Amino acid sequence: MTDITALHRSLLTIDTHIDIPWPEGPDFLAATERRVDLPKMRTGHMVAGCFAAYVPQGPRIAEAQEAAFDRAMAMLKRITTMGGNQAVVCRTVAEIEAAHRAGGTVIIPCVENGHAIGTDLSRLAAFAAAGARYMTITHNGHNALADSSNPRADLGDGLVLHGGLSATGRAAIAEMNRLGLVVDIAHVSKDSMLQAAEVSRTPVVSTHSCLKSLCDNPRNLDDEQLDALRAVGGMVNITAVSGFLRKGAKPNEVTPSDYVDHVDYAVNRIGLAHVGISSDFDGGGGFTGWHDAGESQAITAELVKRGYDAGAIAALWGGNFLRILKTAEDEAA
Ligand SMILES: [Zn+2]
Repeated sequence: MTDITALHRSLLTIDTHIDIPWPEGPDFLAATERRVDLPKMRTGHMVAGCFAAYVPQGPRIAEAQEAAFDRAMAMLKRITTMGGNQAVVCRTVAEIEAAHRAGGTVIIPCVENGHAIGTDLSRLAAFAAAGARYMTITHNGHNALADSSNPRADLGDGLVLHGGLSATGRAAIAEMNRLGLVVDIAHVSKDSMLQAAEVSRTPVVSTHSCLKSLCDNPRNLDDEQLDALRAVGGMVNITAVSGFLRKGAKPNEVTPSDYVDHVDYAVNRIGLAHVGISSDFDGGGGFTGWHDAGESQAITAELVKRGYDAGAIAALWGGNFLRILKTAEDEAA
């Protein structure tokens, strides 16, 4: 019998997508109704979390883009200070590994929605300087960089705007590569995703998506997209959003078994090295059995039940994502 608690507590666990309350919200350092706070990370042995400076899509005009940039910078500031002296903000894989060895809790800042740069690529350097390690190219709604998987009719979106990436979007990816910012293809359209995989010098990642073959949802990746991720050395981090895991399912109708069905499918299709774990906690994620970061051991328990060994579980829980971060660091100019 595997000692699941001992195994889980030995892992360098990374949740690759977590939202924060904005502009107001309970303290990260206290045990509150947030699904991820420091006490829950410690209880659930969640070593590291990627916390998103998320900006909603707005009109594709300079004024709205400027406001989005200001919001993203303010959120990055919150993310990098919310842990006080009780969590470590890490910019590199070496720092993450050192913090883990020291028993610390790690905050990895990121930005969700390239609307926050508008068409001004210099803002990417500002994000990198503020500590961000990845940027999600779109959210729901097309932006100046790319088409989204979920067009926003209320913003005047048709099904397609650029036919994938715009010229600015391609230039943004080149600049992200130069800065060591990982390209996150969650939320983008299939054409945008396939083009980003091809254009990016470093492997692209979906930090929080599930699989279309198991649940038909525009946010989920199909087999061709999975194959493209394998081809470029990228990965998909399966996420804990009930409606992405089972069509129409509510959070109380989904369990870790449904979640690991998606992990299994991706591993079987494109290999262990291209799959990881994310929650989208405080942004729509969470289900029975993995309601918050404090219950993260439930995923390890289900992986053990499915026959994954310690090495495989370590790769899924963080090893693979560290490889992606390291490659982006090494290729940065
Ligand atoms: Zn998202």
